[in-house]
Amino acid sequence: MTTHYQAQGDVALLLLDNAPVNGLNWQTRQQCFEHLQTALADPAIKAIVLTGAGKAFCGGADIKEFGSAKALQEPNLLSLIIALENATKPIVAALHSVAMGGGLELALACHYRMSAPGCQIAMPEVKLGLIPGAGGTQRLPRVLGVEAALNLIVSGEGVMSERLNMVPGQKLFDKLATSAETLVDEAIDFAREVASDRPLPKVRDLPMKHPQADAYFQFAKNMVKNSPQAKNLPAPLIAIEAIRQGTLLRFDQGLAHEREQFLNLMWTPESRALRHLFGAQRNASRVPDLDKDTPVRTIQEVGIVGSGTMGSGIAMNFLMAGIPVTLLDSSQEALDRGLKTLSTYFEDRVKKGKLKPEKLQAMMKALKTTIRYEELSPCDLVIEAVFEDMGVKAQVFKQLDACLKQGAILATNTSTLDVNKIAAFTTRPSDVVGLHFFSPAQVMKLLEVVRARETSKEVLATVLALAKKIKKIAVVSGVCDGFIGNRMIEQYSRQAGFLLEEGCSPEQIDAAIERFGFAMGPFKMSDLAGNDIGWAIRKRRYQETPEMKYSTIVDTVCELGRFGQKTSAGWYDYQPGKRDALVSPVVQKCLEDFRAKHNLKVRKITDEEIVQRLVFSLVNEGARILQEGIASKASDIDMVYITGYGFPIFRGGPMHYAHEFGLLNMMGAMHRFAQNPKDDALFWRPAELLNTWVKEGRTFADF
Ligand code: NAD
Repeated sequence: MTTHYQAQGDVALLLLDNAPVNGLNWQTRQQCFEHLQTALADPAIKAIVLTGAGKAFCGGADIKEFGSAKALQEPNLLSLIIALENATKPIVAALHSVAMGGGLELALACHYRMSAPGCQIAMPEVKLGLIPGAGGTQRLPRVLGVEAALNLIVSGEGVMSERLNMVPGQKLFDKLATSAETLVDEAIDFAREVASDRPLPKVRDLPMKHPQADAYFQFAKNMVKNSPQAKNLPAPLIAIEAIRQGTLLRFDQGLAHEREQFLNLMWTPESRALRHLFGAQRNASRVPDLDKDTPVRTIQEVGIVGSGTMGSGIAMNFLMAGIPVTLLDSSQEALDRGLKTLSTYFEDRVKKGKLKPEKLQAMMKALKTTIRYEELSPCDLVIEAVFEDMGVKAQVFKQLDACLKQGAILATNTSTLDVNKIAAFTTRPSDVVGLHFFSPAQVMKLLEVVRARETSKEVLATVLALAKKIKKIAVVSGVCDGFIGNRMIEQYSRQAGFLLEEGCSPEQIDAAIERFGFAMGPFKMSDLAGNDIGWAIRKRRYQETPEMKYSTIVDTVCELGRFGQKTSAGWYDYQPGKRDALVSPVVQKCLEDFRAKHNLKVRKITDEEIVQRLVFSLVNEGARILQEGIASKASDIDMVYITGYGFPIFRGGPMHYAHEFGLLNMMGAMHRFAQNPKDDALFWRPAELLNTWVKEGRTFADF
């Protein structure tokens, strides 16, 4: 049973009980509907209380049903809502913990609402590329006023019940309960108080108006159009329009307009992408061979070796999560630099009002620094972030092995080195794991967890649980050069080099991929990271894998010492202290000279070709990564690209994009690119997995 019925004297209690958040799948809706009929038919019952068991009143519709016939099967959310609203006995919704989306719409159909303190109220549909589809855009403005409701619906963010209770004239809550524990009893008492009230109040009968409607809605639309969150996403503007229509139309007409827009949005690629990512994020921590009940170790103290760019950023994550940190470096000067980076960042947050001074004080108290390995001995986890050099890593891991207690986890933040080899420097390779943070480590959401050959399941489960505590999205990768993210980006950068040879300018390539939705094109990204980093990797490749063709055109700017923003010159020119990328005549000339010297023919390349070549380079390598078992799910690759590489959210990640584009179409395009004499046909050889899938009619969504 996912909904229970309990008669408490003359009040019937309907309890949603569908863990984890009482999602409204068909079974839950049907049982709720049946229990409602039972309560209405029983003459001894005078009023009804609707509430949720466990950690939520109700988290809303069941996203797994979206787009399927099950979502429409009777009783669907709309018919359940109508049944509640038209009930002949008063219904009190007793809200606690979370009332979101469809759950909030359910509550709005009840005659009265009561909330426990600290209940998070939200209409998060825009985060899935949708608008509320069961009356939310029509009922919420009637109880909160147009402006407060619009802010909730368009942002998708949660607001605490106490705050909404302060909105002047609000009719969302009839009462606030004293506590979550006493909520149900108080709601039952309240239900008895209102048992004989007639007519029963309905939200739909309240007026929905704004005194300066035209000006206000225009203002709201302008704000949304220019906001980065709403860029490329249709739902926020459509939500505003649905609310506007609600101020003009009769309730039922407004509802019909909302429904039509909701159903249209359900089929948009943007909503499909956002729903895919919602599932991808949930599934990222689910590893196929890792049982849910795998024991996890307690992590109460963390050590970090290396207090440079990464080490200091990594330390901030743990301090912010309330976990004490000991930072070790080889000299006091290096530690002082690390401490300065860390305190400057935190102090800046205090100045901006984003961090309380007391919290800063507590964090600085929880931070120790040292140059002696023995002081790491109490740590449950130590993360190494020293220079990217196998010799240095060997030295560090041997020392850690010698001083850490049994059961401690030894992690490396290496970007390129073999974690199996690093593990072999210790006598406990099953306790070694890669934790690949992205820079700036205190900001970037992505954490690649590198599972080495001997990493134990317990260690893996522990770091995955820990990632949640420090608010990272962890994706598990096997050991390979570059792991998931950097291995794929290398192919993307190689392709960008070929495009330069064929006549594209860096700014044309950047602009095309930015219009596609990337936060930054490959050349701006390289200027930001430092062009010397990619150059060093290429030089290694020229030696180690001479069969892999690179365009040396990309080395020419490095040979001029143009390493990017840090040298005020890279693929673009930069004015001192500014980050604006200005087209560089020096680079233009350098590229022209290279093409002339190598007798390269140039041609006009469309934006469409640029985008396809860059994105399909990612996808083809992503397919190899899946094939080799480096990633266990295509959606993990999408998570890596969305959270770590600025891939446009509304496109759902490279693998989802390829799925939407159609694998057969993509393979056709790759085949055409392989005919291009300037390209390496080897580059476009499809991953075996792609060939098999196309033959079997399968796609990434099956993976
Ligand atoms: P960094 O040069 O800024 O810092 C390295 C720190 O390690 C320095 O403070 C140095 O004094 C210290 N160190 C060197 N040898 C040591 C030793 N034997 N014992 C103790 N401390 C020692 O380097 P970084 O950019 O922070 O990179 C650190 C690691 O993180 C590297 O493995 C790198 O590949 C990886 N990484 C870097 C980035 C990035 O964007 N910078 C991103 C992901 C991963």
